[in-house]
Amino acid sequence: MQNSVERHILMTISPTRSDPAVLRSMGTVTPTADDPGFVKTFGEALRDLKLVLEAERCQAFIFPGTGTLGMEALVANWLEPGAKLLVASTGFWGDRMADVARRHGVVVHHATVKPGEGPDMGALEAELATGVYKALAWTHVDSSTGVRVDCAAMATLARRYCALSLVDGIAGAAAEPFFQDECDVDVYLTATPKAIAVPSGLVLITAGKRAMDALARRTSPVLCYALDLTEWQPVMEAYERGEFGYYNTPAINLSLALATGLRLILEEGLEARWARHARVAGAIRAGLQALGLQLVAEEGVQSNALSTVYYPAGVGRELLAEVKAEGVVLAGGYHPQLGPRTFRIGHLGWVTPADAIATIAAIDRALTRLGVLAPERQGAGLLACHNAFTPPSIAPALAGSINRL
Ligand SMILES: *Cc1c(COP(=O)(O)O)cnc(C)c1O
Repeated sequence: MQNSVERHILMTISPTRSDPAVLRSMGTVTPTADDPGFVKTFGEALRDLKLVLEAERCQAFIFPGTGTLGMEALVANWLEPGAKLLVASTGFWGDRMADVARRHGVVVHHATVKPGEGPDMGALEAELATGVYKALAWTHVDSSTGVRVDCAAMATLARRYCALSLVDGIAGAAAEPFFQDECDVDVYLTATPKAIAVPSGLVLITAGKRAMDALARRTSPVLCYALDLTEWQPVMEAYERGEFGYYNTPAINLSLALATGLRLILEEGLEARWARHARVAGAIRAGLQALGLQLVAEEGVQSNALSTVYYPAGVGRELLAEVKAEGVVLAGGYHPQLGPRTFRIGHLGWVTPADAIATIAAIDRALTRLGVLAPERQGAGLLACHNAFTPPSIAPALAGSINRL
């Protein structure tokens, strides 16, 4: 029991803990795709997805697949072979987007920055000003570096040069504030297993009017048959009207789970959810700093969804096993250059202040056991993390009493 998956505090990026109500929906006896109850629930999931992304003027798509398949769907639908794409990369996932696009015969300009930096807006603008780009792609939160990108600023830049904005929001959606209609982002992609906290297997896409018009104006058929959104669109519209439609079989149980997961997010309230992620992320960052650990992401672009952290001198991946022995599961680094030198803490989904405190405490004990935490730093992370959650009137008194112990 002690080592069971259920007992661990999961501070990974993916999967994140699903609420038991979501898992119960997964366990429903599978209805047929034209069952009136399923049709209604799928329609509600489409509506709620638009509410979660503040994308009410958009067309929503929900279909089976991983996040990477969703990236493939963006490329296959919005970029015809020979089209030019500018990828503003802020880590591994931008690199993957560039790769996916090249495989589809798209001509890619891959704009990179140093790991931990946000996009170089001046360089992107100079590139867009050449006027050759069909689209600008970026990653809302890159889960290799923990860098968050300002979607509103990027979308404005794309629009100024008549480029479609294609956003990989897989690690950002439902963790970071995002308002698709207001930012006027053309296409936003996400998937279930991160902040949406539903088991993996569904691609979620919301596309605005410009993007839907561009899709309708394509001169060549979409090369990935199963990902053809011109075929999926009438199916989604049918479900929205309360009618059945078929293109490929929907992932029925996962869709039921998604409907429950989205409802739970809306019940918490978007503002409350974003604020919770910000509080938990802030407290974890305070704890890490007090432990003397450094983040990859520079100040100002640090995401509330996850933190990518450098190992301290003298330690590597063995830290993760030590932390796990304390009951907390973290993720390894995932970046071509930084991977072996970093680990990652997911603080997205249903994370609580208690999870943050337990995580910092577990890292403290693991570093201490590995002999790399100076005695004066022991306990400092825990106190900083706790204080970040505590009203200032209480915190100093507690600090005093802990110092006296
Ligand atoms: C996790 C992730 C992906 C890939 O999702 P898969 O489901 O593993 O294919 C893509 N982009 C970002 C930003 C991610 O965090």
